[in-house]
Order: sequence, then C-alpha cells, then structure tokens
Amino acid sequence: MVQSIFDFAAGQGILLLCDEPMSRHTTFRVGGPARFFAMPEDATALCALLDYAQREGIRYAVIGKGSNLLVDDGGFDGLVIRTPEGELCWEGNTVTALSGFSLARLSACAAEKSLAGLSFAQGIPGTVGGAVVMNAGAYGGEIAQTLLSSTCWTPEGVRTLTAEEHRLSYRHSTYSDHPQWVVLSAAFGLQPGDRQAIEEEMADFAARRRDKQPLEYPSAGSTFQRPAGHFAGKLIEDAGLKGFSVGGAQVSEKHAGFVINRGGASCADVLSLMEQVTRIVEDRFGVTLTPEVKYLK
Ligand SMILES: Cc1cc2nc3c(=O)[nH]c(=O)nc-3n(C[C@H](O)[C@H](O)[C@H](O)COP(=O)(O)OP(=O)(O)OC[C@H]3O[C@@H](n4cnc5c(N)ncnc54)[C@H](O)[C@@H]3O)c2cc1C
Repeated sequence: MVQSIFDFAAGQGILLLCDEPMSRHTTFRVGGPARFFAMPEDATALCALLDYAQREGIRYAVIGKGSNLLVDDGGFDGLVIRTPEGELCWEGNTVTALSGFSLARLSACAAEKSLAGLSFAQGIPGTVGGAVVMNAGAYGGEIAQTLLSSTCWTPEGVRTLTAEEHRLSYRHSTYSDHPQWVVLSAAFGLQPGDRQAIEEEMADFAARRRDKQPLEYPSAGSTFQRPAGHFAGKLIEDAGLKGFSVGGAQVSEKHAGFVINRGGASCADVLSLMEQVTRIVEDRFGVTLTPEVKYLK
C-alpha cells in the first residue's frame, strides 16, 4: 500500500510524507504521527486523492491549520490531508476561496477592498474550510452572516450547498453531521463599507484578544463550547481551576476557557485535564461542558 499511495501521489504532483508528526500541524503543538500526510495544491488534486482513498478503503482525515484540533499521542493510522490554499477569486462584493485559504488573511483582503462582514475573523487562526465546518465566530460575528455557498467533495460526488443547506448554528454545520464530506471552496457575500472603519474594528478585536487570551502559548482556542446561559471560562474560573495543570497542559491563568501547552504537553495530558475540569464543573455547578476542540485518533 505504501508504494502505491506514493506512486499515486507522485502521478498527481501531490507532496506526500510518511509518519509526519501532527504536532507540527496543530496550534496545540500536540499529536503523534500521521501514517501519511498529503498536501494537494488545488481542488482537483484534493478530489483525486479523496477518490483514491475512498476506492482503496484508506482512512482519511482532512485538516486546515489544525487550530481546533487535538491529535492523539498515537497519531492517526491513515491519511491526513491538508487543504490547499489557492488564490481568492473576486466578483464584485462576492469572494470565493479554496478551503485551505487563511481566514485571517481573507478578512484582511476584504478590508483592503473596503468590504465589510469578515472583520470578526481577523484573529481566528484557521482556514476557510475549518471555519465553515465550525461556523467560526467572534465578537458578535460568525460565518453564517456572510456565507453564500460552499462546494464539497462527498463519497457520492462533488456538490454545492446553498447557505440554508449548511444549517449553521453555534459551532455546528451540516458538515458536523457528515464527517466524510470535505469543503473544497466557499463563497462569501460582503457589503461595501469604509476601509478605515473596518480596519479600526479589526484593530480593536486584535487588542481585545491580546488583552484577554493567552496568545503567547500554544492552544486550540476555546477548549469548551459555551453552555447555554453560561460562559465556560467563567465556570472553570469560579471552580478555582485557573492554573490547574496535568503534565504540560494547563488551564490558562489569563483566560480559564483556554487549555494551553506550557511546554511538552502530551495529548493524554490535555485529555486528562479536560476530563477533570468537566467533572469538577459538573459537580460544582451541574453544568456539562462539551469540548469545542476536535479530537483525532
Ligand atoms: C488562539 C486561538 C483563537 C481562536 N479563536 C477562535 C474564535 O474566536 N472563534 C472561533 O470560532 N474559533 C476560534 N479558534 C478555533 C479555530 O481557529 C477555529 O475553529 C477554526 O475555524 C478552525 O479552522 P482550521 O482550519 O484550523 O480547522 P482544523 O483545526 O484543521 O480542523 C477543525 C475541524 O474541521 C475539520 N475540517 C477542517 N477543514 C475541513 C474541510 N475543508 N472540510 C471538512 N472538514 C474540515 C477537521 O477535520 C476538524 O474536524 C481559535 C483558535 C486559537 C488557537
């Protein structure tokens, strides 16, 4: 199998690595090796690789920038595919991006064109694909407000979803219910605005992040989703868990909603910390925390 997947990738011009540490591809800097790690450069190569994996019965997982991802210490015994970045395609106030395009860069490009609607995304360190799947959001904005459509690979063929078909809600989309589907590209409808005002708003969001979030440490952002009627970070702080550590993993002292990697954290450290935090918060307040971070094994 090793030889044939390398032959296939070489034939498609796809860079393929063997036993690639996933700690290099996650913002947590945690995770064992992917048996195969592929970096297709465009949507055609990505689809060809997904068709191949499906045909050959190879387990696959698709990632963007790994900014919401916790990979097991044992790694992933299959094919991890990093989505291609490509170039933006503008048509009036509509922009289409490949799934691997940086969300923060898209936000900056929109501001340069005096187009509003994506300023909330300036500090979200993921890709367009990851953001659509998660309905990423911050400071009152979210992907749902501007998404027009996305095109995706499915085992039955490539299809385009309308905005409504995404069924976007808090950190959830139809992709959450179809883990085999892969976002290839997405189109966003933006509104004409004032460049200076948009950039000022982005600078304000960036300052608020620097002020509140432990950006100096590796993490995957908010570890838990916001429970209805509460804030996860506030519950964790009120349970006295700021600074609580397991190995190299720690509940951030700056923002209790973030688990950070203080250095040398393993996935087991992070999982154990998350389990203990969940149990203590549940015992104390009767609220069940649900992970926002995706776990890949
Ligand atoms: C410092 C920091 C701050 C953050 N702040 C925010 C915030 O304010 N708001 C917010 O919403 N998030 C935030 N995040 C979390 C994260 O950046 C977002 O969830 C982002 O949308 C994830 O994108 P990604 O490309 O990194 O996805 P990944 O982490 O690579 O993947 C996340 C999930 O999406 C799937 N996926 C990725 N790409 C595709 C695709 N093309 N097709 C199908 N499935 C795919 C993966 O399989 C995985 O299940 C933050 C993270 C960090 C580290």
